[in-house]
Amino acid sequence: MQYHVMTLFPEMILQGMHTSIIGRAMDKGLIGLEAVNIRDFAEPARKSRIDDYPYGGGAGMVMQAEPVYRCWESVTTRIGHKARCVYLTPQGRVFDQQLARELAQEEDLIFLCGHYEGIDERVVEEIVTDQVSIGDYVLTGGELAAMVVMDAVSRMVPGVLTNALSGQDESFSDSLLEYPQYSRPEVWHGKSVPQILLSGHHGNVERWRRDQSILRTLQRRPELLEKAQLDKKDRKVLQELLANAEEI
Ligand code: SAM
Repeated sequence: MQYHVMTLFPEMILQGMHTSIIGRAMDKGLIGLEAVNIRDFAEPARKSRIDDYPYGGGAGMVMQAEPVYRCWESVTTRIGHKARCVYLTPQGRVFDQQLARELAQEEDLIFLCGHYEGIDERVVEEIVTDQVSIGDYVLTGGELAAMVVMDAVSRMVPGVLTNALSGQDESFSDSLLEYPQYSRPEVWHGKSVPQILLSGHHGNVERWRRDQSILRTLQRRPELLEKAQLDKKDRKVLQELLANAEEI
């Protein structure tokens, strides 16, 4: 997977991404990352300025179409094709695990990070294939949002997670939240690890975890259950939980 991030703050992307699991995946060559400074494509007469006043008035500045377009042309020419180009914007499709899975199928992904009041709509129309939001709030720039998307997508690139199963089992993998996790010591602040996890009985542990996933999803994100793949036993557990709803 090769990421190409068009941004006004390349150092933020490079520093932010080069840590922990994703940093190691980059060192191993499983993930490539370049951060391209849109300012380098400013009109020569404007030095490195790439923003201007919005037509029609209003607060703030707008990133101009031409520097963004030239930056994108430079990236696509170098990689040899018009890869999917994701504009991070609060107006986009809300990012989720399903979209992360879909984006992970690509070989190259281009990200466009806005700043100020956003980007001239004409270049968005011309180069962007996907508009993606990371939630219903407004950030100062698209960099953090691009890093959120790259982090979630990278976990699905083969080899990035050393234990391949950890990506399959976690929250949202089948529209359920993950069960609670425990590690040593067995008793901490007077709280014991659930006995079943110490039993060594794989089948019972699996059943307990599945039930906990269903319970947790019902308590915290009940709307996810509509899409969850539940078998007969799962549905029975859910019905029992709903029957005792006052305890939840
Ligand atoms: N004026 C824009 C609006 O109301 O839709 C918001 C612009 S915001 C201050 C500047 C940039 O931050 C955007 O162009 C976008 O790249 C990024 N951004 C802000 N919130 C975001 C979010 N929730 N998800 C993804 N990107 C976001």
